[in-house]
This record gives sequence, C-alpha cells and structure tokens, in this order.
Amino acid sequence: MNVATYMSQLAQQVGGIYVPKCTTFKSHYQSTMKGAVFGAYKGYLVALALTQAGRTSGFVMLVRYPKAPIVPPLQEALKNRPGFSSFFGKKAVKAAVDGVSISWTYVMTKPKLEEIASLLDAVVEEVSKVAQPFSGKCEDCGAAEAREITLMNGIPGYHCPACQMRTAEEKQREADEYRSKDANYFLGVIAGLVAAAITGSAWGWLISLMEADSGKWSPKLHAVIAFAVSIPICWLIFKAIGKRDRVGQVLAIVLTLAAKWWGDTIYFTHVVMHVQDVAFSWQLVGSVVRHFWDYKFFDGGYTFVTICDIVISAAIPWMPWASLPKFVPVFQNINPDGSLSQTLTQGTAPR
Ligand SMILES: [Zn+2]
Repeated sequence: MNVATYMSQLAQQVGGIYVPKCTTFKSHYQSTMKGAVFGAYKGYLVALALTQAGRTSGFVMLVRYPKAPIVPPLQEALKNRPGFSSFFGKKAVKAAVDGVSISWTYVMTKPKLEEIASLLDAVVEEVSKVAQPFSGKCEDCGAAEAREITLMNGIPGYHCPACQMRTAEEKQREADEYRSKDANYFLGVIAGLVAAAITGSAWGWLISLMEADSGKWSPKLHAVIAFAVSIPICWLIFKAIGKRDRVGQVLAIVLTLAAKWWGDTIYFTHVVMHVQDVAFSWQLVGSVVRHFWDYKFFDGGYTFVTICDIVISAAIPWMPWASLPKFVPVFQNINPDGSLSQTLTQGTAPR
C-alpha cells in the first residue's frame, strides 16, 4: 500500500481528514511523509503522521487538549496503563501543557490501521481523565465560538479570528524587537576567528594523527567533517554577535570554510612530512599553502572533498545551529477535500 492510500484509509478509520500538504511534525531532524491526518475525536484534536528521520521510519500521534496550568500527569498514566506497551512496542510519550504526543519507529510494515485506532482510543480515554475536552470555544480567549480546526504552524487547534490576529501581532512585535537588537559584529568576528583557528587546528592535527603516517585516507570523513567544524563556529559567532542574522550566517560560511581548509593545510603538511621523511617546519607549511589547490584538486577523490567543503559551508544558513528564528505564525484552515487555505490573518498581518 502506498503512503497516500494508507493515509486516506487512516483518515477513514479515525473519522478525520487527510491533508497531504502539511508540515506538522517536520523539523530539522525529521521529515513527514506525505502530510498528516487531522480530526476531532471525542472532543480532543488529533494529528497522525508517518515520519522519516534518516533511514528510520516512524509514526507520530498527537492528541491535543486545551492548555492546562500544569502538565497533566499523562506520561506515567499512559506508560502504566495495562496493555499500552504492547501496541507497536517501545514508544516515546511526551506530555505538554496542551497536548500529548506518542511516537514510535517501525521497520518495513506500516502500523496496522485498526491498532492505531485502538491506541488512539486508549490515549484519549487516559487524556479525558486529566484534561478537559474542547468546548466549541476558542482555546485562547475561551469566549468566541470556534468550531473549525485551525492549524497554527501545522498544529491543530481552535483559534478565533480575533485571537489569530492578536497572536500574529504579538509575534510580529517579538520579531521586530529581535531584529532591532544591537549586534556586536566586531566581537562576532573575533569569536569566529578564534573558533575557526581552534576547530580547524583540531581537525588538522587529529586527522594527521589518524591518517598521515599510515597512508590511509577516508574520503567520507574528509567530505562531511565541515558539518562538525561549523557547529562550534556558528555557536560562538551568534553568541558573540548577540543574535542570529544574515551577517552572522555569512561570517559562519566564510570561517567554516577557512577552518576546514586550515585543518587540511596541517594535514597535507603531515602527509608531505611522512612521504619525504622531513621534520615539521613553518617553511613546509608555507610551501603547502602555496600549492594548496594542487592538493585540493589532486584527483577525483580530493576534488569531491573540495566540492563537499564548499557545498556544506554554503548550506550553513539551513542548518539547525545557524538558521534564523521564525516568529510569525501561519494559520491555516482545513478544507473538506484535504487542501489547506490560509486564514484571513495571514493577509492582514503586518509584514
Ligand atoms: Zn479567541
């Protein structure tokens, strides 16, 4: 059964709507396969989706209830519920003030629809013992009527138009405040240079220890190490600047590449030391620097590593440790055919 068919049947099973184009549960570390199923179930809101993290397939079930002052004691209640652990084996349960999510991984066969329905039943029964169901009112103000499910950044809820507007404006204000925060670029450059010098040197000396004398060469490690190099560099740059912005991202790209290539210079120096049986000298480092591109494009393998260095560095703005914070929420309504339409708020929110 393909994913779309599976999701449609799942929607039927739980009386929900299959929305192929939504990004609920999508994060830097996991993607959703073909959207999610949404529905109201005994007064609670439900979202179900197949997930993918690397090569691992999983399933996630979110049951939402109105925000409570404290996190309902669901985690323990569910784990101690007789029979709960027999569904699909080991599951992660995460309870929050406004919902509980249950996720697990599977190999090859997608979870059986009837079993998902039974699990949902069990979860909702447990939830109903500790959290109120939605009452047809907006969950933010508790006053206005709200009977249609609204997705806020992909999470189902009940939000009246006025509250959507208010939330959007509040978030816009936060975004403006963040943007206008003072940025210390001077400190950012200094911190970035220090971080690049340290991480680049660490990479160079470590890989020299591992490979230069033995003559081994693991292209995969050389090709992906820029990821690891970028983490401390990004962290220190943004810390020193005081916020995440485009300038910091550009600085991170340049300094990650510089750090990786500084490490490569140390590595090539050690290779030359080994091959020519000479001792370390700064003169030797200087000669390696002059012939740096000859080394970086020595053969197909080295050229591949060089390309990876550049591509990974250029992709830094999309990495979780360097992406810009998002503020303004997206509100969407679910149409009966499973398509999404943005609510009025989106059009009127200040840009
Ligand atoms: Zn409201």
